[in-house]
Amino acid sequence: MIQKSGGEGMQRGVSQWLRRLAGWGDIIFAAECPLCQRSTAQELCQDCWTQVERCRWTHPVRETESPSIFAWGHYRGALKQTIAALKYDQHRQLARPLGRWLAQSWLTQTQHPRNLMVVPIPLHISKQKERGFNQAELVGRPFCEFTRLPLEPQGLIRSRATEAQFHLSPEAREQNLSAAFELGTLRDRTQRAVLLLDDIYTTGATTRAAIQVLQRSNIPVYGIVAVARAGDPGKNFPPSSPFPVKPPAYK
Ligand SMILES: [Zn+2]
Repeated sequence: MIQKSGGEGMQRGVSQWLRRLAGWGDIIFAAECPLCQRSTAQELCQDCWTQVERCRWTHPVRETESPSIFAWGHYRGALKQTIAALKYDQHRQLARPLGRWLAQSWLTQTQHPRNLMVVPIPLHISKQKERGFNQAELVGRPFCEFTRLPLEPQGLIRSRATEAQFHLSPEAREQNLSAAFELGTLRDRTQRAVLLLDDIYTTGATTRAAIQVLQRSNIPVYGIVAVARAGDPGKNFPPSSPFPVKPPAYK
């Protein structure tokens, strides 16, 4: 039998201690607001939540658009920061309140059929591997839990990697995205109309490309829901006074 040396024992003790410390670290970080780093028991602290609420549209749907586009908030300020923290800083827990708020607003502010299925706008596999998740799918899970609609995370596939869109002109965006999508599991599930879900709606080029694929396959598209929408607020000017200060209850 080989006797453990004192050095090995000490090494093992130190590594156990470091693992335990890492565990405590998770707890400490989990209790920190991702936007302002103040301690909180919620996904966002009370102050940041109030700031996000100020980005909420008063009229989330514009009646003239078809298919209809429902966006929870204006893509700016604290809402923009929250989406960035989710996507780029690995704060996946933020998808939960965003999905719940989107669902609560959508349920109370729209008339909609029950026979819908929710399809998140997919990322290309290389982007999803790099990020580790698709934020639209993460938001889609609580959205579907709350609305009780089925989620079809692989309904569409992004078959072509597209370069970053933000610096492109509208024409170049359309060009960049044409033929970017193809049908995934929706090939076998066409009994329901599709509700597309994305984190941000900007020019609509991405969703138009997705809709083209669905329409070519005679799959009806009911509409689009997005956490945030960019652009001129117009009559949708966000409220100047904060909404009820208490965050909506979510489990
Ligand atoms: Zn905060």
